Amino acid sequence: MMTEEEKYISRCIQLARNGEGHVAPNPMVGAVIVYKGRIIGEGYHARYGEAHAEVNAIRSIKDKSLLKDSTIYVSLEPCAHYGKTPPCAKLIIEKQIPRVVIGCQDPFSKVAGRGIQMLREAGVEVKVGVMEQACKDLIKKFILFNTKKRPYITLKWAESADGYLDINRTDGKPVILSTALTTMLVHKKRAEADGIIVGTRTALLDNPSLTVRNWYGKNPTRIVIDKDLSLPSSLHLFQDNIPTLCFTQKEASGNNDVEYIQLDFQSDILPQMMTILYKKDIQSILIEGGSILLESFIKDNLWDEAYVEKSAVCLQDGVKAPYIDRKSICENERHFGVTICHYCQ
Ligand SMILES: [Zn+2]
Repeated sequence: MMTEEEKYISRCIQLARNGEGHVAPNPMVGAVIVYKGRIIGEGYHARYGEAHAEVNAIRSIKDKSLLKDSTIYVSLEPCAHYGKTPPCAKLIIEKQIPRVVIGCQDPFSKVAGRGIQMLREAGVEVKVGVMEQACKDLIKKFILFNTKKRPYITLKWAESADGYLDINRTDGKPVILSTALTTMLVHKKRAEADGIIVGTRTALLDNPSLTVRNWYGKNPTRIVIDKDLSLPSSLHLFQDNIPTLCFTQKEASGNNDVEYIQLDFQSDILPQMMTILYKKDIQSILIEGGSILLESFIKDNLWDEAYVEKSAVCLQDGVKAPYIDRKSICENERHFGVTICHYCQ
C-alpha cells in the first residue's frame, strides 16, 4: 500500500513524464499542490527555457490564498539559482507555502541541497526522500549525462529468429522485420531521444528520414557518420529542415540545417563523438544501426540500454545481428508474436 505522500509523489512522476523529449538538458520534474487532502494544482516542466514544474503548479491554482495552508509535492528539489527563470525555492517562500515534500535532492548543477537549505532557513517544513529511487530513475538520463559527461545511449535493432539483421544487399529495400506496432514504439523512442545516430551504410542503403511520424513529439537531431563524404545530399536525412550533424574526416561547410564536424579517424571516433555531443547538450541518443556501428558501441561498452526486437521470421543468411551479453537482459515484452528484449547495464 502506498502512503498518501507516495501517491502524490507518484503523481508528480507521472506529470513529469509529459516533458520527456522536450526539457533536456534540464531534468523532467512534476509538482502537485495539496490542500486538505485534495489536489488543487498540478504542473510539470514542459519545455526547456520555460516555466519549472513548481511555477506551473502554482499558476494552475485560482484561489492563491489556499497556498498558505497547502503542501507542495515535487519530484526533484526546487532550484535555488537564477537561471532562465527565477528560483522556485524563492517562489515557494513568497507564496507562503508552509510545507514541501521532495522526491530526491538535485545531485548537480548550482543547486545541490541549496534549494532545501533556502526553504528551511525561511521556516518552511521540508521532507526529502519520498519514493527517492523512482524519482532518481525518472531523471536517470540527466544523472548519467552529468556524471559521465556523455549522452545516455540506447541501442535498438530488430533481428530475425536466426539472428540476422538483414539480407546481404547492395541496393534495394531492406527486409522488414518490424511490425506496425513495433515501428510505432521505435518512433516513440525517437521522440524521447535528443539525437539519433546511423552509420554510413544504413544512411545510404535504407535512406531513412529518421523523423518522428508514428508518434507524437519532436524530431531528434539526426546524426550520421560519413568519413569520406560519400553520402549524396539527396538522401532523406539531409532534407526536411531538421538539425543534422555529420561526422567526417574531411573539411566541409554545412548549411542552416546540416553541420559537418571533423573527427580524427586514425583513433576511435566514438569517444570523440560523445565529447562533442555532450558539449552540444545532447543528453540522450538512440543508435539505430547498422551492425558495424552497433557493434562498435557494444565493443567500447558505450551503452546504457538496448532494445532488441526478435522477429519470428528466419532469414538463413545475411548480415549478422550484433552480439550482446544475454546476462544483462532485464525484461522481455511480448507484443502480438514479437518479443522485445530489453537489456540494461
Ligand atoms: Zn525551478
